[in-house]
Order: sequence, then structure tokens, then C-alpha cells
Amino acid sequence: MATKSLAESVPDARGRFGAYGGRYVPETLMAPLEELERAYTEARSDAKFQQELNDLLHNFAGRPTPLQFASRLTEYLGGPKIYLKREDLLHTGAHKINNCIGQGLLAARMGKRRVVAETGAGQHGVATATVAARLGLDCTVYMGAEDMERQRLNVFRMRLLGAEVIGVDVGSKTLKDAINEAMRDWVTNVRTTHYLLGSVLGAHPYPAMVRDFHRVIGQEAREQILNSEKRLPDWLFACVGGGSNAIGLFNDFLDDADVRMVGVEAGGRGTALGEHAARLAAATGFGGAKPGVLQGTYTYVLQTPDGQISTTHSVSAGLDYPAIGPQHAWLADRGRAEYTAVRDEEAIEALKTLAEIEGIIPALESAHALAELMRRAAKMKRDEIVILNVSGRGDKDMEILARYV
Ligand SMILES: *Cc1c(COP(=O)(O)O)cnc(C)c1O
Repeated sequence: MATKSLAESVPDARGRFGAYGGRYVPETLMAPLEELERAYTEARSDAKFQQELNDLLHNFAGRPTPLQFASRLTEYLGGPKIYLKREDLLHTGAHKINNCIGQGLLAARMGKRRVVAETGAGQHGVATATVAARLGLDCTVYMGAEDMERQRLNVFRMRLLGAEVIGVDVGSKTLKDAINEAMRDWVTNVRTTHYLLGSVLGAHPYPAMVRDFHRVIGQEAREQILNSEKRLPDWLFACVGGGSNAIGLFNDFLDDADVRMVGVEAGGRGTALGEHAARLAAATGFGGAKPGVLQGTYTYVLQTPDGQISTTHSVSAGLDYPAIGPQHAWLADRGRAEYTAVRDEEAIEALKTLAEIEGIIPALESAHALAELMRRAAKMKRDEIVILNVSGRGDKDMEILARYV
């Protein structure tokens, strides 16, 4: 049969994942996005680029990451065999570095000596500043003034790494205002500057490009599980903020119809609009998300009945965002992946469980995925195999945890 595989069918030439994705930007951004798309398309099939990328992923970031059999967690939950994909062991403590290395190399390849990024809690800013230092690029990070106050340690880290951190003192003084400022900077300085976007969001080609830089997670996991179990897993679990760590794990299993996928969003404090960041988990009662345009892409967006972007809440900053990557919206519509939400306190309980039972303190984001697995484990069979993506480590969350525990 000559039909295209599911994984290869998106995005189309216009950057669409079914109805989602695309390029909803002002005219001034069309040329830079086209330039980026061309450069990325060339780099993908350039052996030298791939070699530099692999070298940095290996020697700088620490890939491949282990796929660890969690024997004690498996025994404790009494259900399926659980394997942990240990992205928490990467340099800077999370999967984010995969994408930053890829885009940093691409910026250098395009002859751009400067990167700009926005950051909420500071994790993406730190990963960007880290890679910029390694590659000798200038780096400017925009951050809401409110967030800078809350995340002083990360501001300190970025500055130590040589980045300029600019506080954004307008609007709500948080992530979405920082995004606007970073975009403005990019438009103004586009000849010398690359906009290093942190998840599978934004206008085409970002959702596809960022996904591709994270596909290594699923490619490694596939090879590793085939080595240890001689077969593919039955389930994949990952948390979903913008959706980059999840799609990185899922993508190379999309054509394996027997591999089920669960994306876990932030259920926050409850189902009311403003209390959570669950965009695709409507089936479990979380309301307020409708298709709409945010940050250049058409996808599910949490919004008020009259179309204003809703505020969101999550104990984990990485999941606290009103929109979701367009490929996830597409996968949800097709029923290829399932999306659900976990509340703050369930994620905290899951974090404590993994810490006590496996000696791993996961990021609060990753703990959401674990909490969903813990809910379901009792109903799953003992010969089923699960891969859970531990997207990052929990060191960054100690202050928040100390407040809750
Ligand atoms: C940023 C972050 C996330 C959420 O981002 P995605 O793009 O959804 O992967 C998840 N886990 C950790 C540890 C993060 O730092």
C-alpha cells in the first residue's frame, strides 16, 4: 500500500496538522518564517549539521538518556511493567536542551549571531542561555517582571551564563507579555537574530521543527525497549504543556496502532475556567478550551465565552499555558492519543511516591504523567509495558514543594 504513514502525513506544505497549525502572523514575519523554513529543510538533510547536532546531544547534553526499568514502582503499583525515560538526567535537568541545541545550531548556520527567547518560569531561558554560551551566540531573554521576581535563581543563572535578561513590565507582567516583547525584538533585528521558541507552538515551521529536535526521545526509547523486552510498549505516558516532550516521545510510535498514548495536562485546582490549564481534557470535565489562534498557530486555546484568552493555573510552571501544540489537537481529534488532566495535589503525591520508591525526584510537570499512570495501574495487566517520560528533574521545584508538603 502506498498510503502515507500517519507520522509522515503532517504537517502539510502549509504547516497544517489537519485543521490546526498554520501561520497566522503579521506580514513582517512572513519572510523570516520562510527563511527559517528553508534553512531548516536544508539542515535536515545535511550530514554535517546532523553530525554537529549528534555530537552536542551526546557530549554536551548527555544523550542517550537511560530507559530504566522501575522495578520497585512496578511492584508497588502491582500493575504493568513500568520503564522511565530519564530526560531528567540531561544537562540543565530537562528535555528542553534537545530543542535549544537544534535551534542554536540552526541560528549559527543561518549566520545569525544572536538569539532571543521568552521564558515563564525560566527553564527555557536557562536552556537557551546555556546553548548560546556553548555556541558563542549573544542571548537576550524576555521575562515578565512578576516572573522575574518569583524565579530569581533562574534569572541569576541566565546572567551567569552571559545572557541579557529583560524584564517586561507591561500587561500581566507574565509569559504572554514576554512573548510579545520577544516577537517585537525579532521583527526589529531579524537580520542578525533568531527567535528560539521553546515548545511545539508558534507559526510554521516551529511546531514541526521543535518536534523533530525532540524525536530523539522516542527513537532512543523504541530501540531501548526492543532491546530489553523484544517488543514495543503498550502505553506511553507524558505530561503536556506546549507538548514538546510528549510529541518527542509519541511521534515515532504513531504508526504502531497497538501503542496507546496518554498526554497529561495540568488540572490545577479544579475544572472551572482559570483554575487549570487543560486544553484537550474536556471529556474529563475541564471546560473552556475552543479552537482559536494564539501566538501564530490555530489550536485549542483556553478562552472566555467572548474569546478573551483565559488565565490559567498549575503548580507546575511548565504546564501553565493557555494553548497546546497543534499536532496534539490533531491527534486528539483523531483519537490517536488520549488527553487527560491531573490536579496539583495528585501531582505532588506522585512526586513524593517516585522520590521515596525509586530515589528519583521528578519535575512537578513529569509528576502529572506519573499521577495519571498511578490512577490506572491497578486496572492494567501485569504483562503490559509502559514507558513514562520523566521530562525533567525536580530540583527547581523545591521551594514550591516546601510550601505544599
Ligand atoms: C517545560 C517543561 C515541560 C512542558 O513543556 P512541553 O513542551 O510540554 O514538554 C515539561 N516538563 C518539564 C520538566 C519542563 O521543564
